[in-house]
Amino acid sequence: MTSRIYYRDPYCRSFEAVVARAFEHEGRPAVVLDRTAFYPASGGQPFDIGTLTQRGEPSASGVDVLDTIDAEDDVIHVLSKPLAAGATVTGEIDWRRRFDHMQQHTGQHVLSAAFDRVFDNRTVSFHMGAEVSTIDLAREMSWEQIARAEDEANRIIWEDREVAIRFVSSEEALRLPLRKEPARVGLLRLIDVADFDLSACGGTHVSRTGAIGAIVVTATEKFKSGARLSFACGSRALRVFRTLRESVSGSVRALSVLPQELPAAIERMQVEGKDLRRTLKKFQTSLAAHEAARLAAPIVVEALDAWDANGLKMIAAEITARTAAAVALFSTSAPVAVVIARSPGVQLDAAAVLRALTERFGGRGGGKPDLAQGGGLAGNTPDIMRAARELLQRSGSDHQGQTSAGERTQG
Ligand SMILES: [Zn+2]
Repeated sequence: MTSRIYYRDPYCRSFEAVVARAFEHEGRPAVVLDRTAFYPASGGQPFDIGTLTQRGEPSASGVDVLDTIDAEDDVIHVLSKPLAAGATVTGEIDWRRRFDHMQQHTGQHVLSAAFDRVFDNRTVSFHMGAEVSTIDLAREMSWEQIARAEDEANRIIWEDREVAIRFVSSEEALRLPLRKEPARVGLLRLIDVADFDLSACGGTHVSRTGAIGAIVVTATEKFKSGARLSFACGSRALRVFRTLRESVSGSVRALSVLPQELPAAIERMQVEGKDLRRTLKKFQTSLAAHEAARLAAPIVVEALDAWDANGLKMIAAEITARTAAAVALFSTSAPVAVVIARSPGVQLDAAAVLRALTERFGGRGGGKPDLAQGGGLAGNTPDIMRAARELLQRSGSDHQGQTSAGERTQG
């Protein structure tokens, strides 16, 4: 059974221990120590990493602790290299990582207690990730409500209250105002944020709320019947602020407005964009009619500047409505867009023509006998146009051949 140093002394980052057992855990070397300050992943808090160094050896020759696993009575350390049973080792925790976890975890107690006290909204679960930590609340909260709980949590942080560790029996715990009924029986470990929160928890916490630094809620989303809130404490809160500062200052520079004017400026741009698209569509429609009048002929094969696939379709529709025609239109800009169309009664399978073109020049597309469109054709435009003209002309002459044959039979 491993004695867990972090239960009573979460600030212990270096300790001496003896290797009680050495074995393989899922194909990797592992040990159980008689005592450890490494925290195994549990209760929403990630595991500790660090090094184990055999007594008498320089710390540079230490073995890396890659994972720390809770196995009921024991704590398993997964290692980069095997260690022998009976060896005396010095353990060193990656303190930067661990202290970050302590800040986030204690911050979570304070934030959850704030929602509980101000809004009677319970925390259903907690998860701490490498970047983002979340709590799931029983009910949804507006941003205004979130700000009030955030204010309350930060007030407790700035009052620098004591965070004490207490051990009580589960019978004693029944008489105490715990925020949440404990899930286990026997000896309970309580985390006591002075006159603010009392919770059963096996994790690691800072000893005074001031060390949390600050707490910010960064996002909220609907989750089941409640809400999932993302939050950041201490150094993570600073990192979140810096990321926001970077993107806001970039946007402010691009739009030449003050930060608080950003939402209105973006909204204005969206309205302007919509108006422009509407105007452009009006111009395209009337210009398409002009282009159609200019191009109208029994066979039209053209590459048109400044028209997109939609515009080409509009022109093709205008031409085939005006006169009996077979039409192949291309854009001049890459990737080349193509539209094949025919008037009712004209003998042509537009989809077959497009298929013949894409088989030869690549690209893709599809459609129906009267209208097909595609894009991404490779090759130079004059070659593609010559091939298209041949295909349109051949369809026309096939049609004439069939008609004369029919006439002959009739005659
Ligand atoms: Zn905790």
